[in-house]
Amino acid sequence: MSSHGGSPSRAQASNGKVAPAAFPPPVDSRKEFIKRGLDPEDELIEVGVAIVGGGTAGLACANRLLQLLGDDPETMERLGEVPVAVIEKAKTCGGHNLSGAVMRPEPLQELFPEMTRQQWREEGFAFGEVKKESVYILPNGKTKLRIPPPPPQHNRGNEVVSVSAMARFQQRQAEEGGAYILTETAATQLIVEDGRVVGVRSGDKGRGKDGEPLGNFEPGTDIKARATVLAEGCWGHVTGAAIKEFDLAAGREPQVWELGVKEVWKVARPLDRVIHTLAGWPLKISAKYGQIGGSWIYPMKDEKTGEDLVSIGFIVDLEYADATTSPHDLLQQIKTHPLFRGVLDGGERVAWGAKALPAGGYWAMPKLSMPGAVLVGDAAGIMNLASLKGVHYAIKSGMLAAESIYAALKRGESSFEDYEQVVEESFIGKDLWEQRNTRQPFQKGLLKGGPLVNLMIATKGRFPGGRWSLERDDAKPVFIGNTRDRYPKPDGKYTFDKLSSVFISGNATRDDAPNHIRVQKHVPREIAETWRWMCPAGVYEIPEDAPEHGVVDVIVNYTNCVQCGAITAKGGRLTVPEGGDGPLYQIT
Ligand SMILES: Cc1cc2nc3c(=O)[nH]c(=O)nc-3n(C[C@H](O)[C@H](O)[C@H](O)COP(=O)(O)OP(=O)(O)OC[C@H]3O[C@@H](n4cnc5c(N)ncnc54)[C@H](O)[C@@H]3O)c2cc1C
Ligand code: SF4
Repeated sequence: MSSHGGSPSRAQASNGKVAPAAFPPPVDSRKEFIKRGLDPEDELIEVGVAIVGGGTAGLACANRLLQLLGDDPETMERLGEVPVAVIEKAKTCGGHNLSGAVMRPEPLQELFPEMTRQQWREEGFAFGEVKKESVYILPNGKTKLRIPPPPPQHNRGNEVVSVSAMARFQQRQAEEGGAYILTETAATQLIVEDGRVVGVRSGDKGRGKDGEPLGNFEPGTDIKARATVLAEGCWGHVTGAAIKEFDLAAGREPQVWELGVKEVWKVARPLDRVIHTLAGWPLKISAKYGQIGGSWIYPMKDEKTGEDLVSIGFIVDLEYADATTSPHDLLQQIKTHPLFRGVLDGGERVAWGAKALPAGGYWAMPKLSMPGAVLVGDAAGIMNLASLKGVHYAIKSGMLAAESIYAALKRGESSFEDYEQVVEESFIGKDLWEQRNTRQPFQKGLLKGGPLVNLMIATKGRFPGGRWSLERDDAKPVFIGNTRDRYPKPDGKYTFDKLSSVFISGNATRDDAPNHIRVQKHVPREIAETWRWMCPAGVYEIPEDAPEHGVVDVIVNYTNCVQCGAITAKGGRLTVPEGGDGPLYQIT
């Protein structure tokens, strides 16, 4: 993303003709987020492998590396006092992780072969095997139409998990194995020396609103590493800079994203199946509105407390055109449908969160390695949208990265180029190849694109074949439509407003912290409304006395931000706030 873009006057009040891409955020990634050269040796921390992001992929990478190094004391010794370090911006690993999540179990079983699935449940991150499943289309707010589950959505035998709880479990394993886990630490810059990644810099702490050092100021530190693993998740701050610096997206399709909003409910009666709804109500499926998405309800049995819980959520593609599309409010709306209400009746909401996910698939994946570093998990765009699965790929890609890095370091080499080939040859490459064109037809709208998607799924990508292109989410012009008219009024029992949702996410960001959201602050109303409705945390406000048409001011209440990442897809740029800020998810 370049620095300042289009001028607001160019796009005065032309409801329907303004694309967020015309108002890019004031950011120069390479200049701001790439540090050229390391600080002097006595001012830095030196580690063997630095892993940025203590989520599913990063911690799988750490655990696999520690297993390999545990059997090879000589290589371990060569990596120095801190062979493996994980840098995580949340208060604890898991604090910023959120997923559905129905997980394919094999990669986790491969990573921890001595554990049974029953032990996963006793550890508190797994909640039972999927025994039954139902898929529905909702024609309206009252009725439902059951359809056979499309093949990518077959879930029998999979496990319902919480990725935030799983990250806490993986953190304990990694610490026992000897990893140095720096929580409450944000990586803010990638350090590049002589064309090679040599580590990352951690962010300063204790700066005030205008960047001024406060009484408790602590400067960041260079973390020098022989190998750096970028495991930052769906829209990585350092990953974005690395992709630009090393031109990793050259010749690929642009990445596109979805935004998911999730709640966990304690329920009065156990649910016996996983439920998905596809397209249909409450979305407007005509190409004009461009709303594509779906929802889920997953049963969760807590082994420790015996409580019955459910995970429910709503996901929307971020290429929609109606500026009043609000994933948070669409989730509130779908809860008024009898299918959902029947499950939630007599229950209580216990958790909420939101997060974006990469949806472009095979053609949108950047090159996975650069000199000195690799990309894993969502940061690498490794996600299968057709099956809504990324957790097992995140684990496997973390493990494959660990194996490639270990082998190279053992040989005394510093190139991790073969990692990309290994991913391509694994089941990750095979699965994503089969689904390579399943996201693109949706850009024609559901009615035109849906049948093509079904054909592509049925033929495993062979027909219609070739490479289908993707359009950036922020290139789609937005207009102020009427989706907002149907959102339910929050009743505080089944339906909630954004602020009470943010409250239960455990969000804690200092009121006097510097602003970490980069957006233009004088934009056409269409753009401002897009941000206002899209943001699940209510960060963007338009002053009440702003004109109905033309350019308006945008107020950014950045301390509400739950770091979902969606703004980066739709015309802004999320940068990393101070380590420790943001939500503290427990069971999402
Ligand atoms: C709503 C939703 C529903 C989903 N449902 C399913 C499902 O049912 N089944 C399934 O298999 N997959 C599902 N997925 C996809 C799956 O959750 C992801 O593919 C997977 O969790 C990605 O793991 P990750 O480790 O790559 O990224 P993340 O889990 O995002 O972890 C990244 C970590 O890096 C940290 N981090 C980022 N930047 C920095 C930085 N600069 N400095 C320090 N730390 C940093 C973050 O705080 C975070 O802890 C879903 C995703 C979403 C959003
Ligand atoms: S401001 Fe934060 S919570 Fe809101 S859309 Fe942007 S990243 Fe998500």
